[in-house]
Amino acid sequence: MVGKQISGKDIAKQLRDRLRHQVLNEDCFRKRPPKLAAVMVGDYPPSKIYVSAKQKACQEAGIDSELYHLPSSTSQLQLVECLDFLKNSPTVDGILLQLPLPSHLSESAALLAMDPEKDVDGLHPISLGKLLSGQPGFRPCTPAGVMHLLDTIGVDLPGKHALVIGRSFIVGKPMALLLMEKGADCTVTLAHSQTQNLPELCLSADILVAALGKPEWIQGSWIKPGAVVIDVGINRLPNGKIVGDVSFSEACKRASAITPVPGGVGPMTIAMLLKNTVDSAKKRLA
Ligand code: NDP
Repeated sequence: MVGKQISGKDIAKQLRDRLRHQVLNEDCFRKRPPKLAAVMVGDYPPSKIYVSAKQKACQEAGIDSELYHLPSSTSQLQLVECLDFLKNSPTVDGILLQLPLPSHLSESAALLAMDPEKDVDGLHPISLGKLLSGQPGFRPCTPAGVMHLLDTIGVDLPGKHALVIGRSFIVGKPMALLLMEKGADCTVTLAHSQTQNLPELCLSADILVAALGKPEWIQGSWIKPGAVVIDVGINRLPNGKIVGDVSFSEACKRASAITPVPGGVGPMTIAMLLKNTVDSAKKRLA
């Protein structure tokens, strides 16, 4: 099993197929299909790619999607008006606010203005508060996708030492919370840029989740033999190649299972967004 690659692409496809089946067959969706509204401000090229990938995935799963593409000159008030409109729209089940926003806009104020009942990205403070307090709710898609991967490949989590590298509210912090939640029961360490003994911490981690955004930063020699390595990073090198935060070929030799980049966590993030949208629609249509 040394260096077994985890195909997030395949696991995400299985989940998307299940969702499609659900949308086609469950009674509540006879009224109408689930609908995701994506809000994008400006023309940041990676955001355009992510939003179009999400819309394509929606279409394949039988989920309606609509893009609200606002110009980069949009004011905070105009953005909030758009989010309010979607909040009140009876046929919209999920709202995705594509980040980052142009620098003149406040992301935290925009997220706060969203309807928490339609927060399928799981980033509204209410959703994050529910995660913190152990209540059911929308979970942020990337860490939720990682948990789905670990569950699908049957990683035994309770009591294991999980190291999460990165403390963003989108990935690192919710990842740490999900791994320590009842049921997962890991002993979690969260590292960040000021952490002093990263190689030693990595060597003691049974589960290592790298979300620091630094190309191939985590060396193969830092990996505990037999560890499960989840590489969340997406980094574009000057030559155009996309790599993760982990030095993949070296880490493969020591890990028992490892996600590649691309084709690992990325597809899971999209699949979890669809799952949250279908769950939201089901609740609203039931
Ligand atoms: P952020 O830049 O918001 O956060 C990066 C975190 O890594 C920060 O907490 C930072 O610490 C920490 N960090 C930076 N350098 C080091 C270091 N040398 N050692 C330890 N910790 C360090 O990034 P995101 O969380 O948004 O994203 C992380 C990566 O994941 C990016 O590559 C991004 O593209 C990718 N990503 C992938 C997704 C997917 O679907 N696969 C989805 C979302 C993100 P500090 O807080 O101290 O600055």
